[in-house]
Amino acid sequence: MSAISLTEPAAFPPLFIRDLTVAYDNKPVLWDVDLDVPDGSLMAVIGPNGAGKSTLIKSALGLTPRAAGTVRIFGEDLRLNRRAVAYVPQRSGVDWDFPTDALDVVTMGTYGRLGWLRPPGRREREKAMECLEMVGMADFARRQISRLSGGQQQRVFLARALAQDARLLIMDEPMAGVDATTEAAVLSILHSLRDQGRTVLVVHHDLETVADHFDHVALLNVKLIAAGATAQTLTAENLALAYGGGMAALAKWAR
Ligand code: ADP
Repeated sequence: MSAISLTEPAAFPPLFIRDLTVAYDNKPVLWDVDLDVPDGSLMAVIGPNGAGKSTLIKSALGLTPRAAGTVRIFGEDLRLNRRAVAYVPQRSGVDWDFPTDALDVVTMGTYGRLGWLRPPGRREREKAMECLEMVGMADFARRQISRLSGGQQQRVFLARALAQDARLLIMDEPMAGVDATTEAAVLSILHSLRDQGRTVLVVHHDLETVADHFDHVALLNVKLIAAGATAQTLTAENLALAYGGGMAALAKWAR
């Protein structure tokens, strides 16, 4: 079990970002972003293609260098608090030909708790199987990951994040290109993680599901347009600022 309390209020937001600027080839793709992800929230990061959504989470996780800015995970530098955060990358960013099966991928999620020097034992494999069951993938435990469908691969990665037992989960488009069953399964897992008191930040592309499923939202387009509770933040005006369209066309997604 995790030694981290999920019931005591956190002194710092799970993710705290100040003055974050990221540039590729000297061109800024994120500009001076400030973002707090509140404790226990389920937050969607939305914005048009190329808005910097993936870059935001990769730079927050130290996977992409920052030109400037500060990031704190539960008030600490990521290096000191790496185990508190689990990351589900975009499916396209993963080498699916790597010769390993679903159970091994998920068991790897328990390594953070074990330390790298101890090989996983029966307890870790049982925990990994439980997580595969939670995402409806127990029957595929011994299937090579290259032989799973896109939606199944996505569920395996979600199971790996569950096995990490992290207080903060950061996911990059976990519902992109998956079938309706997987989308429903992923949404239900996101809700139950939030209901357990965990904090979940999701890069999300589907405006239709934001208002119904996410209690917080951040609208991004190189700069942060707005962030906060969905009811106050997902307005036609903010959507127009982020997506650049007319307010009337975007109003159907607003709260
Ligand atoms: P989003 O996730 O919102 O679609 P990204 O964060 O993937 O946006 O990309 C933001 C911008 O940065 C885009 O213009 C993209 O082309 C550029 N970009 C992303 N990754 C790289 C990279 N490794 N090298 C150069 N440019 C990149």
